[in-house]
Amino acid sequence: MDARFIRNFAIIAHIDHGKSTLSDRLLELTGSLTQREMQAQVLDAMDLERERGITIKAHAVRMMYKANDGVTYQLNLIDTPGHVDFSYEVSRSLSSCEGALLVVDASQGVEAQTLANAYLAIHHGLEIIPVINKIDLPSADILRTQEAIEKAVGLDATDAIPVSAKTGQGVAEVLEAVVHRLPPPKGDPAAPLQALIFDSWFDAYRGVIVLVRVMQGTLRKGQRIKLMSNGKGFDVESMGVLTPKPVEIGELVAGEVGFFVATIKTVSDTKIGDTVTDEEHPADSQLPGFEDIKPMVFAGLYTVDSHEHTMLRDALEKLRLNDSSFFFEPESSEALGFGFRCGFLGLLHMEIIQERLEREYELDLITTAPGVRYHITLTDGTVLEVDNPSRWPEPTNIEAIREPIIKAQILTNEEYVGGILKLVEEKRGKQVNFEYVTPTRVLLTYELPLNEIVLDFYDRLKSISRGYASLDYQLAGEWVSPMVKMDILVSGEPVDALSIIVHRDFAYERGKALVSKMRELIPRQQFEVAIQAAIGSKIVARETVTALRKNVLAKCYGGDISRKRKLLEKQKEGKKRMKRIGKVDIPQEAFLAVLRVG
Ligand code: GDP
Ligand code: MG
Repeated sequence: MDARFIRNFAIIAHIDHGKSTLSDRLLELTGSLTQREMQAQVLDAMDLERERGITIKAHAVRMMYKANDGVTYQLNLIDTPGHVDFSYEVSRSLSSCEGALLVVDASQGVEAQTLANAYLAIHHGLEIIPVINKIDLPSADILRTQEAIEKAVGLDATDAIPVSAKTGQGVAEVLEAVVHRLPPPKGDPAAPLQALIFDSWFDAYRGVIVLVRVMQGTLRKGQRIKLMSNGKGFDVESMGVLTPKPVEIGELVAGEVGFFVATIKTVSDTKIGDTVTDEEHPADSQLPGFEDIKPMVFAGLYTVDSHEHTMLRDALEKLRLNDSSFFFEPESSEALGFGFRCGFLGLLHMEIIQERLEREYELDLITTAPGVRYHITLTDGTVLEVDNPSRWPEPTNIEAIREPIIKAQILTNEEYVGGILKLVEEKRGKQVNFEYVTPTRVLLTYELPLNEIVLDFYDRLKSISRGYASLDYQLAGEWVSPMVKMDILVSGEPVDALSIIVHRDFAYERGKALVSKMRELIPRQQFEVAIQAAIGSKIVARETVTALRKNVLAKCYGGDISRKRKLLEKQKEGKKRMKRIGKVDIPQEAFLAVLRVG
């Protein structure tokens, strides 16, 4: 199609501000889906996505829209993931667009992800149309939201479009604005091919499906292509667009968005941000912004039942087919047996994978406390990458330790600032900026160790602010920090799977809190169990789980049958997740106790 009649755009928003609902309305209004096909939130395809209300993978949908000027436009809506763990994917999706709809909930106003996404879109040079959503709510305040967009984001919001994605009010104006306010794509269909990969996944029937935005040239069925980051060549077998149903087409020209299937066997070949070119007549250069993304958060995954170990491996392999950002390798633990060291983009990514393993593959898992990757310089000058406490070098051999740092933006109401400052100080944060973005909203910018964030930071932020604080972060280099390995001993024996890496100055506090939490979590046994936290040979904290003497049921609950049954059921459920270490049964929660202290 003539590029003048193409518009490529994304919808960006803070979570729950209505991105998916608005997408659905746009599809409905352009007749992309018949009423029968219209299902709530079609763009969030996976069950898990729907349940959690998040969009995990970016998708692209082509809509044909006959505008009020009588011309039919091709609109490509590129859906971006809504969570900070996937910010690289968001940035690649935005690179595929010329414009964005910035959706802001009129009852909530501007939030941290509104800012982060808007800045990202501005950084990519996109034209932005502010959309004020949920105006049907009694608590909606259009004027105040408009003001917040101008003050906090710095965008002109005079032409912001008030809508209700729920009732459909105002959505027609959004389509007109997309056509008239967003620029068409540039690019020469006759130039050497440069197509940007912004998503790919493995489909059981069709193999690897690659979503691209053609920047220059033309991509054709049957073409021999080359991926510029690894030089690998493939044949394009079929191509199409999602409407959102897949529809086969013969070519995609500069400015267009669509998918192709080639002789590619694994998604690890199709890296997000990579450039597809023609093998015979390649482009001079790769498109800018490509990064080989690396996992940031690491944890051990083990099955409760050791017979399920091969099932876990098969499941991890299947998941990896679809997710090249997820990493795993075998590891073994004296306490837990054979398992896998896994690497994730962030905590949410980790939770998603864990939940899919349990739900789709029906595995009972034990997860060890998540940690980060350190760069350790040894006294002999070698530098190690260590993401597993069990590989921590002898302290006497360590010259310096560097830990990953993030830059966090926390947006909150004034009244919670005190509590939040206390939290970030406790988490070793360093203030970068403190700014009133409106008379009552404060934007805090901090540098913080990622290691502290993967513990319980987000949950605590939410509880301190009663939910009125939002967080966004990006990686921001490394700090040299005196980190130490803390071991946990159960009945005098170190349990390797419970070891964690902590800052030396916080080790004593953390150790004390941890053993006292473990004492609550480890059920009483027939004998006394000592729980100790140690750094090297130095014990920093100790607690005791006293021996069980009497029948718990008889003692606590007397004759109340239903409560008794509940307790028994609870115990049964708990059993499933117990791991016997030495003579002691340790529940799953104990391995994650480190997440719940502080
Ligand atoms: P996303 O996280 O940005 O994709 O947000 P969703 O589209 O999933 O919407 C989050 C919640 O807000 C859902 O419960 C929607 O039904 C609701 N919602 C979305 N748009 C509107 C609206 O215009 N009015 C009202 N009242 N609710 C809305
Ligand atoms: Mg959504």
